[in-house]
Amino acid sequence: MREKIKEQFKQRFGTDGVIYASAGRINLIGEHTDYNGGFVFPGAIDKYIMAEININGTDKVRVYSMDMDAYCEFGLNEEDAPQEQWARYIFGVCRETIKRGGVVKGFDTVFAGNVPLGAGLSSSAALESCFAFALNDLFNDNKIDKFELAKIGQSTEHNYCGVNCGIMDQFASVFGKKDCLMRLDCRSLEHEYFPFHPEGYKLVLLNSKVKHELVDSPYNKRRESCERVAATLGVETLRDATYTMLADVRDKISDEDYRRARFVIGEKQRVLDVCDALERGDYETVGRCMFETHDGLSRDYEVSCEELDYLNDVARECGVTGSRIMGGGFGGCTINLVKEDRYDNFIATAKEKFNAKYGHEPEVINVIISDGAHKVED
Ligand code: ADP
Ligand code: MG
Repeated sequence: MREKIKEQFKQRFGTDGVIYASAGRINLIGEHTDYNGGFVFPGAIDKYIMAEININGTDKVRVYSMDMDAYCEFGLNEEDAPQEQWARYIFGVCRETIKRGGVVKGFDTVFAGNVPLGAGLSSSAALESCFAFALNDLFNDNKIDKFELAKIGQSTEHNYCGVNCGIMDQFASVFGKKDCLMRLDCRSLEHEYFPFHPEGYKLVLLNSKVKHELVDSPYNKRRESCERVAATLGVETLRDATYTMLADVRDKISDEDYRRARFVIGEKQRVLDVCDALERGDYETVGRCMFETHDGLSRDYEVSCEELDYLNDVARECGVTGSRIMGGGFGGCTINLVKEDRYDNFIATAKEKFNAKYGHEPEVINVIISDGAHKVED
């Protein structure tokens, strides 16, 4: 990818630039916990957006996207975002950097990537973080702190792309470190690195390629359930709730709300349990927790779907160590931790059985936990 970008850059702009990259991410465990003040546990992966950039001495940004085979130009003093969706991410990052008092001058860039789009690996955060990191390095002596870089990406989604996301994706893309997962406390925003180098195991995503659009917003309904239970318990968020507290109010809340809260309380603890297990290198416990999360998401939180439950069942049948839905639910990927000697059989079986039932194979995405945003040295 690097060579292709360099060749294209030279051809288009007649010079060389500096190369930056940032990563997509997985979240090993900790689902629907962010808005409950709990923990998420993401890591950056070996799928990147990479950009070559050269300062051009104007107030214009000239961008070529290799994957879209499209060119776009915008002025740094223009208020109007470009029409092209992919260019809005870069425009947004420039504007948000300037808004925070950062310096951005005109530049030429060519970029490409291999983070699958819309598969739940956050290609958009990779794109934002790549440019946020680059602008900080090129124009701001790296004075903007890393958390602020993540927020620049998040605000870009909010203000230029109409996506009201949390901070996890951009955080993971900016802070990611090889062989480490990061526990982010969504209440205090403190984070801690934990070792993740599962020797003898592979981490693989199976993309069901289905997305069920539901009529009423299940996401908002889940949030409302959590807020109702928290209010009944007299706590700010379910972060502060325990199973005992929940049992005490069981007859005051609906069965549905009870099950929603039961999942959230369990999920908070599972993230902590996984962190402890990783410090001991105990990947079997990690896997068990992943299955428990899947069950909770499917039965208590009810955000799974037939296809994902099916992939989870196949994983169990094939002796996979851990498997669960990754992301908000209703489609997308499962994330699987699988022993190397069971990998080939698992993949072949999942492809064959899923195809027989749903008419297409799941997409197989192998991932390795890798560095987040960085400058690519020659
Ligand atoms: P994801 O879950 O992967 O973040 P999004 O819909 O949030 O999905 O973001 C995908 C969008 O990000 C694409 O539609 C495109 O505008 C932009 N994007 C991601 N990767 C690339 C790329 N390699 N080249 C150009 N644009 C990209
Ligand atoms: Mg996205």
